[in-house]
Amino acid sequence: MEKKDAYIALGSNMGNRAGNLSMALELMERNPHIEVKKVSSSYLTEPWGKVNQADFFNQVCWIETDLSPWELLKKLQEIEIKMGRQPSEKWGPRIIDLDIILYGQEIVQERDLIIPHPYAQQRLFVLIPLQEINPEIVFPDSGMGIREVLIRALGREEKKSIKRID
Ligand code: AMP
Repeated sequence: MEKKDAYIALGSNMGNRAGNLSMALELMERNPHIEVKKVSSSYLTEPWGKVNQADFFNQVCWIETDLSPWELLKKLQEIEIKMGRQPSEKWGPRIIDLDIILYGQEIVQERDLIIPHPYAQQRLFVLIPLQEINPEIVFPDSGMGIREVLIRALGREEKKSIKRID
């Protein structure tokens, strides 16, 4: 199968948060169908939804893969489980969260898989690291470039703290 560029958002707010992000990246790299091409800085961000929990470490990586979007989702879920993620309440604390933000220019609208990720175009903790690793990104659904999407989100999002930590 032809190789596609995809972007994965990583998040952790439990245990050794920096260590969890690097472990997830290492497990992705170990998969022969996934090549990690570029990794953003890490960002420390206030949690969404349930706010009485630890801040998140967030990061985005650019991968190349010959897996289909569904195969990729399955591999990412296997990594989450291997790292000890428990099925927890929505928005609750988590060891690791791996989301497919973009998969080439494809649009997927299924019950279990939505690409581009539904929150991607609103969340600064996704958009800022995404722009850092590739400022040329265009969202296939809105047709907007990352810069424009980021400027809109900056004007809209309530001011949550987001700090680059490396
Ligand atoms: P979460 O608890 O935020 O990790 O959500 C996990 C669920 O979101 C999984 O059951 C996936 O099927 C679903 N999902 C829908 N779209 C995506 C996506 N683009 N990337 C990852 N998970 C997704």
